[in-house]
Amino acid sequence: MNHNNMLEDVADFTVKTRSADETLEFGRRLGALLRPQDIIALVGDLGAGKTWLAKGIAFGLEVPGHEYVNSPAFDLVHEYQGRLPVYHMDFYRLDQLSNEDYLWIEEYLDRQGVCVIEWADKFIDQLTKDYLKVELRETYNEDEREIRITDIGGRYKRVIEGLKQQ
Ligand code: ADP
Ligand code: MG
Repeated sequence: MNHNNMLEDVADFTVKTRSADETLEFGRRLGALLRPQDIIALVGDLGAGKTWLAKGIAFGLEVPGHEYVNSPAFDLVHEYQGRLPVYHMDFYRLDQLSNEDYLWIEEYLDRQGVCVIEWADKFIDQLTKDYLKVELRETYNEDEREIRITDIGGRYKRVIEGLKQQ
């Protein structure tokens, strides 16, 4: 699928948070809207807030707080059981993804849970499925982050609508 041809009908949503806790809370709202096999692609520099947002998403999917371990930087993926399974991946450590990497990632994408992927830009070009792109960036104000959410492919209109309604 060539996602570049779908620019006419892009649904997106932008929010600014003023603290890590606000990012967590926004993640919670987003997580509450997710369904099996949704893919959340987190993109942003080191310290942009990807891990905080991922944690909020896990809480929004009802992962118990005491089970949550921060970033899976060393294991590449952490699995949680909430209202749905949550697969939190972090590709920070992967410079270039090998064919083996694509195979295990695809295997997770095919499961009945939600994939939340930090440093998703390292692999997004290879992704043939629809995904929710979440770009985080620091602004000129300390502790402020701009979070831009884009529905890539059309599957996530309902999520964007849900966020706009809240
Ligand atoms: P990443 O996973 O993108 O590298 P983290 O979520 O691990 O980033 O870290 C974000 C850092 O920025 C944390 O130290 C957090 O306390 C801080 N921070 C400050 N303001 C915010 C904000 N609005 N949202 C998220 N994190 C923030
Ligand atoms: Mg991180």
